[in-house]
Amino acid sequence: MTQPVLSLWINGKPQASTGTRLADVFNPATGEVIRRVPLASRQDVETAVAAARAAFPHWRDTTPLKRARVLMRFRELMQAHSDELIRLTSEEHGKTRADAAGSLQRGIEVIEFATGVPHLLKGEQAEDVGRGVDCHSLLQPVGVCAGITPFNFPVMVPLWMFPVAIACGNTFILKPSEKVPSASLRMAELLSEAGLPDGVFNVIPGDKEAVDALLTHPDVRAVSFVGSTPVAKYIYETAARHGKRVQALGGAKNHAVVMPDADLDYTADALMGAAYGSAGERCMAISTVVAVGGAGDALVARLRDKAARIKVGPGDRDGIDMGPVISAAHRDRVQQLIDSGVAQGATLVLDGRGLKVAGKERGFYLGPTLFDKVMTTMEIYKEEIFGPVLIVLRVNNLDEAIHLVNSNPYGNGTAIFTRSGAHARRFEHDIEVGMVGVNVPIPVPMAFFSFGGWKASLFGDLHVHGMEGVYFYTRSKVVTSRWPAGEEQDASGLSMPTLG
Ligand code: NAD
Repeated sequence: MTQPVLSLWINGKPQASTGTRLADVFNPATGEVIRRVPLASRQDVETAVAAARAAFPHWRDTTPLKRARVLMRFRELMQAHSDELIRLTSEEHGKTRADAAGSLQRGIEVIEFATGVPHLLKGEQAEDVGRGVDCHSLLQPVGVCAGITPFNFPVMVPLWMFPVAIACGNTFILKPSEKVPSASLRMAELLSEAGLPDGVFNVIPGDKEAVDALLTHPDVRAVSFVGSTPVAKYIYETAARHGKRVQALGGAKNHAVVMPDADLDYTADALMGAAYGSAGERCMAISTVVAVGGAGDALVARLRDKAARIKVGPGDRDGIDMGPVISAAHRDRVQQLIDSGVAQGATLVLDGRGLKVAGKERGFYLGPTLFDKVMTTMEIYKEEIFGPVLIVLRVNNLDEAIHLVNSNPYGNGTAIFTRSGAHARRFEHDIEVGMVGVNVPIPVPMAFFSFGGWKASLFGDLHVHGMEGVYFYTRSKVVTSRWPAGEEQDASGLSMPTLG
């Protein structure tokens, strides 16, 4: 059967690619190819950048209030079409509908944040910084911005970027993951329906060819990236070398530290969603538990009992807790990592390898997997597994736990479970991680705060959305003004002026 072929979205309408390369888009729940997507060529990138560049002057000069109103209408359309977006997310990614709905909601909250842009763009002002001299600052858009996004949140991660970018007066080119392109293309149609002028938002599904063309294009001013660490580092270095500002969010290995004084039932429940939700394919998934002191045995027993009850199947079916992983290749990689954990001597408490779902034998399924007594030298600790595998390490005290977390190269998210304010406060202060939860397993900041990690989880200086997103998508300008009159008119003298 021939599969439908998607288009690019450039200058307010669907466009065929000038290239010839296509990629298969799978439904991971069935293992079938459901559609095909063009992989944008260099020429397609040229066309998209030209459209975004041409649209910029008018959009920049549209008042922030009018830009916000377009986003308000977009938000309404996103709500009205939520069922369709949830279906597309679940169909191409595999996550359950409930999880797709939650991530859609978190994305919509970024649109809501961005509708406050008239307020967010207010600069600073000071009267009389010198006698008769005033100062004020402006935040102005940077121009054409590009966003490159991963497969695991087809709606939410693009929404971390473009609502803030276009609210600030920029134009945008989104290069979604070629594995999950449909939701991005649908959002482009909804933006158009909301009244966004042609060329302000463009979508070019593609792979490295399109990404490289964006990273080196002289008219692209800013690049936002979310994906794996090796690619994030490459994006950061290449785009920076070509004179662009860059925020490149990378991979993760998120630890939950469980103190002996924690409520272990609450903790084990919280860890189920954090480890196995979205089949572990979340950059904020808790993939590593650090059990402190006597917490280990009782916690592992609870984790095993709860994980064994997780229902695995197609994400669009009622009663299913966990869907498939994204691809057959990824399932095989995760299975190989589980093999390595066994070979290297970790205790396999629950084995998800080889799971088959009746009627969906070709789907990319894996069952929840739990390892205990893992060592930091093992592959299952060193690698970001990005699958439904939770590992438990044991340490003697909080000092050792903090040292272990801080020694890991990643620093995206972490959490502590405890009833002690002193432990929590110490952890919050000493931990070298960008997002920290206290009895909250996945501490994803709300849209009006900023999201981002430390160390190998972020290359660049500014996090996404919240005020850091506004600063990333704007350049600041400081104006110093004087309106001389009478004796104040004297501007002579060659020495460095001092105003005070
Ligand atoms: P990925 O790095 O393979 O791909 C991300 C994007 O980069 C895609 O659009 C892809 O087409 C493009 N890309 C891939 N290889 C490239 C290359 N060699 N050159 C140029 N572009 C390339 O990531 P993924 O598999 O789609 O997503 C999973 C990863 O994303 C995990 O590591 C996860 O932790 C990470 N992630 C991080 C965050 C965060 O906020 N830090 C959020 C979500 C996902």
